[in-house]
Amino acid sequence: MPLPPDAVVRLNLGHIWLSEYPLEIPVHGFLIKHPAGAGLVDTGYGTPLELIKDYRPVNASVAAALRRHDVDPSDIRWIINSHLHFDHCGQNAVFPQAPLYVQRAEYERRHRYADTPAAWLEYAGARYELLDGEREIVPGVRVLTTPGHTAGHQSVEVDTTDGPALLTGDACWTARMFEGEAPREGMMEDEAIFGRSLEKMRQLKPATVHFCHDNRTWRTHSGISTGR
Ligand SMILES: [Zn+2]
Repeated sequence: MPLPPDAVVRLNLGHIWLSEYPLEIPVHGFLIKHPAGAGLVDTGYGTPLELIKDYRPVNASVAAALRRHDVDPSDIRWIINSHLHFDHCGQNAVFPQAPLYVQRAEYERRHRYADTPAAWLEYAGARYELLDGEREIVPGVRVLTTPGHTAGHQSVEVDTTDGPALLTGDACWTARMFEGEAPREGMMEDEAIFGRSLEKMRQLKPATVHFCHDNRTWRTHSGISTGR
């Protein structure tokens, strides 16, 4: 059974400053309200904020964000990390009960990410479920391999009554990028592979596309729409 479109709930998890562009970007995770148990796609950055101070992060508790939607952190049954950069996995430890679904290729590269504190990933009780490719995690929620931003990146497709909802992670940063605007230098590890993953996501003909770093949501009928 497809989920209602509002089963995908954006969580505002602060913002970070990218000094190389320079650019301030929002950071989002997503709650998926699913009859088999609620899940999360990405968990934002963690604490202490001092560890990533060059990014000028603000306090952003995923637990508080969930409670604003009447969900207790202990209700989360599964987590998908699109990739293991610091702003997507920083609060995994808030959910000791939940398996963490990550591509094996991504997990094995985690030490290359100098900005991701090891303690945010490797803590007592962390339960990684390493994936070798695409998989349905719970009925109607699938991970898709979308390399380019990182080699082990994955995105998430959710069946909704409106059609597919796509959560790109950082495979595509913004609604404008989804419509063809080129990424800026350094946003993707491999731009040619990014292009192939973007085309793969477009071929899914999503009804809705949600972004981790854009307050807008892309919708098939109206193109870019202003987010909440
Ligand atoms: Zn990111």
